Amino acid sequence: MSKPTILTVDDDPMVSLAISRDLGSRYGAEYRIVRATSGAQALGVLTRLALRNQLVALIAADQRMPEMTGIEMLELARIQAPNAKHLLLTAYADTDVAIKAINDIGLDYYLLKPWDPPEERLYPVIDDLLGDWRRANPDHTSDVRVVGNRWSDRSYEVKTFLARNHVPYRWYDIERDAEGQRLSGLAHTTPADLPLVLVAEGEPLRSPSTLDLAGALGLRTKAEQPLYDLCIVGGGPAGLAAAVYGASEGLSTVIVEREAPGGQAGQSAAIENYLGFPKGLAGSDLTQRAVAQVFRFGGEMVLAHSVVGFETRGPVRAVLLDGTGEIEARAVIAATGVSYRRLSASGVDELTGRGVYYGATASEASQCQGDDVYIVGAANSAGQAAVSMARFARRVVLLVRAATLETTMSRYLIEKVMSAANIEVRYRSEVVACRGDGHLEALTLADRDSGVTEEVSSSWLFVFIGASPRTDWLGPDVVRDDKGFVITGQDLLVPAYAGRWPLTRAPFALETSVPGLFAAGDVRLDSMKRVASAVGEGAMSVYLVHRYLATI
Ligand SMILES: Cc1cc2nc3c(=O)[nH]c(=O)nc-3n(C[C@H](O)[C@H](O)[C@H](O)COP(=O)(O)OP(=O)(O)OC[C@H]3O[C@@H](n4cnc5c(N)ncnc54)[C@H](O)[C@@H]3O)c2cc1C
Repeated sequence: MSKPTILTVDDDPMVSLAISRDLGSRYGAEYRIVRATSGAQALGVLTRLALRNQLVALIAADQRMPEMTGIEMLELARIQAPNAKHLLLTAYADTDVAIKAINDIGLDYYLLKPWDPPEERLYPVIDDLLGDWRRANPDHTSDVRVVGNRWSDRSYEVKTFLARNHVPYRWYDIERDAEGQRLSGLAHTTPADLPLVLVAEGEPLRSPSTLDLAGALGLRTKAEQPLYDLCIVGGGPAGLAAAVYGASEGLSTVIVEREAPGGQAGQSAAIENYLGFPKGLAGSDLTQRAVAQVFRFGGEMVLAHSVVGFETRGPVRAVLLDGTGEIEARAVIAATGVSYRRLSASGVDELTGRGVYYGATASEASQCQGDDVYIVGAANSAGQAAVSMARFARRVVLLVRAATLETTMSRYLIEKVMSAANIEVRYRSEVVACRGDGHLEALTLADRDSGVTEEVSSSWLFVFIGASPRTDWLGPDVVRDDKGFVITGQDLLVPAYAGRWPLTRAPFALETSVPGLFAAGDVRLDSMKRVASAVGEGAMSVYLVHRYLATI
């Protein structure tokens, strides 16, 4: 396969040479660096590459060029190279234009000239852009292959696990794809063997458990040490931030995550309010970067295990894993977040995983190509899902119980929802029943004012209706409110919880009623339920862990 292309566009020969030279010296081994000296020439190059089916990873264009500006050229280039990352080289005076282009043409980044030294000012930006591009355009030769039934909940779980752990895979529907039938025949599968998972090395996996799958893919499923300084339960933004700070500050640190790192944020198609990312970033990209950071500092991650219990053993804290096994640590951070509430409508439970889904990942969005999709919910998560699904679906219907979105969804998302031609918002409506033989085929919708019901055909229902904390594993000593959210810090000292805090010193800010057990992120009572606040609490909890460790 030929190398993907990085195209530079600049009418100034000196600058053109300099950017191509700097990019070539760092990326030349993996990418072909091509130079153009005008917008028109660049579009010609892109057309030729498109006709030869050659990939373009990045276009770096100067803004100030005669005849066609960089922004005008990049906008036109979407036709020939729709997936390329766009970098604009600007002078300080063009900063406003560049910021506007982030919204108008989806510009990925702008860089002020000059970019010396490139090690500090150019390469980190390009590394990020190419990293994102590679994840979105993986080399398919080493993909895992999954053969299964489109409507099987086990197939859904396997695909979700692979997608959320960033393992590229190709999906073959046993009923529709000849290649799926061929592979299934070669492996002599019976219906009970599905989904069949074929990995590059090793035997075919027949309807594997998540743990078997993780093991076959080389993902870590066991802790390495008998005792850690810090064990973090949950690998969402709070847990990942705690691991980065813990490991980087010299604590032996392990995260236990039952599904995939990233938590709820990993399911977000575009987080637009996280500081430092004016164009927004996909939750999967944020996760990927955070995981790399955890490993870089020597943190460990144990995947595919749920923590099911917690024990205090003198100065040691222990978390108990499902199946067998436990991890001991001198301090523990509970960062288990929240999970979606269940929809109460007849037929929903039987069809969950077979057309009815809680939350959504990007891979589901692309499978809805050309279909009608229904989404229940009125908060940002539902809005983001609607916008993301609308790129593939024929029509997206957002079902909202209230009469407005204003109080529950951010303004920028409401604007996106309203301006999408194929998204319809149905206010004062709810799902009262789901029907289907083996998979979802129809929904019954009710108008909450008139009571009138209507059955609509659809194979896809995505539910985003609020969340409850995952804290059952904590046991009775850890004080929680009536919904299960963990009480921390000064809130433990109110009369309602008199006698529950066992020490003479006051609890640290994020400390629970068990000294040495901290809570961070959405799982904590009165947390803000945002990525940035979860990250902040994760980082802060490590500072408090240090203070706690100094007391024992
Ligand atoms: C679709 C969607 C879009 C969103 N968009 C935005 C946005 O644009 N901006 C924003 O600021 N916020 C957004 N949010 C909210 C944001 O993602 C959350 O506030 C944030 O992820 C909370 O982080 P957390 O680490 O506290 O918990 P979570 O993200 O919930 O992570 C908890 C982790 O713990 C794991 N876990 C749970 N129980 C166990 C157990 N017993 N054993 C082992 N592991 C366990 C889970 O698998 C999960 O990975 C969005 C949420 C969703 C669902």
